[in-house]
Amino acid sequence: MMNYKRSSALFVEAQKVIPGGVNSPVRAFKAVGGDPIFVKEAKGAYLYDEDGNRLIDYINSWGPMILGHAYQPVVDAVVAKAQKGTSFGMPTEIETKIAELAVKMVPGIDKIRFVNSGTEACMSAVRLARGFTGRDKIIKFAGCYHGHSDSFLIQAGSGAVTFGSPNSPGVTQGTAKDTLLAEYNNLEHVKEIFENNKNEIATLIIEPVAGNMGCIPPVPGFLEGLRELCTEHGALLIFDEVMTGFRLAAGGAQELTGVRADIVTFGKVIGGGLPVGAFAAREEIMNYLAPVGPVYQAGTLSGNPLAMAAGLAMLEALDADKEIFTRLSEKTEYLHRGIKEALDAHHITHTINRLGSMISVHFAAEPVVDFKSASNGANDTFKKFFHGLLDEGIYIAPSAYETWFITDALTYQDLDDTITAVAKVAPQLID
Ligand SMILES: *Cc1c(COP(=O)(O)O)cnc(C)c1O
Repeated sequence: MMNYKRSSALFVEAQKVIPGGVNSPVRAFKAVGGDPIFVKEAKGAYLYDEDGNRLIDYINSWGPMILGHAYQPVVDAVVAKAQKGTSFGMPTEIETKIAELAVKMVPGIDKIRFVNSGTEACMSAVRLARGFTGRDKIIKFAGCYHGHSDSFLIQAGSGAVTFGSPNSPGVTQGTAKDTLLAEYNNLEHVKEIFENNKNEIATLIIEPVAGNMGCIPPVPGFLEGLRELCTEHGALLIFDEVMTGFRLAAGGAQELTGVRADIVTFGKVIGGGLPVGAFAAREEIMNYLAPVGPVYQAGTLSGNPLAMAAGLAMLEALDADKEIFTRLSEKTEYLHRGIKEALDAHHITHTINRLGSMISVHFAAEPVVDFKSASNGANDTFKKFFHGLLDEGIYIAPSAYETWFITDALTYQDLDDTITAVAKVAPQLID
């Protein structure tokens, strides 16, 4: 058993001045119980907490640290930039440099705009799509996360399946009525929504590989079908690649699947661990943005030099060594096999989903293909799994609805240690 005394004490203090003690809800461990762990520092594949514990990290800041924590080229780039001033609100050359590299790496985009988070990127992409098409409605999928802007905080309404209702107080009915909710991996359902809302749908936004209800890959033909439906109905297809961009391949899910979106959003990896988001498209669409076009979008700290330096160093590393993506995928597959064997040995009912360096373990008997099947997982078993692994020094996301993010800093020894920990925890999972 590890000691988390100092983390728990810090959590008490934090709760006095920060709602729930955290600046983003999932960090609070509500879904798994117990107190969150306070990080002191991190290097490579490991977190070091305030009690002096070392944890193998499978969250990696929810994705950005794809090459491990405190990756030296990123650290050096940020430190060097900071010496020269941290923000100007004027154009800088490095913004063009990272834009050129992103445009080179990602298929089908001519121009890119940088913002400060994935939320901002998706929110702006939808506004751009609405402005470009002159339509109001959007389609999103149940269980996909596109940040916390109002249009996305929508759940399935009662009765008529597709009309959304707010899933947070503060989101108005007026906003909710323009978001139509579809089932992931269900092309027929999407087709129906398009048929029932002819000439009204501005855009369909999707995580091309879902990562916010665990990892759920698209079934064969699904993304291709969405592409066709969007083209047929004059709607723009947005791939939210905040999670998958620069992770599944240098060109993200578009490169991996061969399906091309009209607008692509980024976050996480593109900022190398600093607050960065971006959205990109072909020239005709991007020129609809101010100051060239009529759709307004802005940001005091957008294109911030420290953030751009971190992002550029990260993209340069990924661009220079494409084998990174193969290595990540192989490590993830190795982990998959090991975890499956360990759980099977104790007859623990489970399903593992994996694509590239995204993987999730669901304590469900049926295949996990959408939000509904993801919700069928046994949450009590997940809680035991989470806390059991934590006691073995393995840190996975504190929620059954999250993907694990594999980093290139993980060694096969780390993976073996993780599999050994799963084998040790497995007997505790039997009801
Ligand atoms: C994380 C995430 C977002 C939101 O990004 P933030 O930087 O947290 O605002 C949007 N879409 C997807 C797919 C994400 O995984």
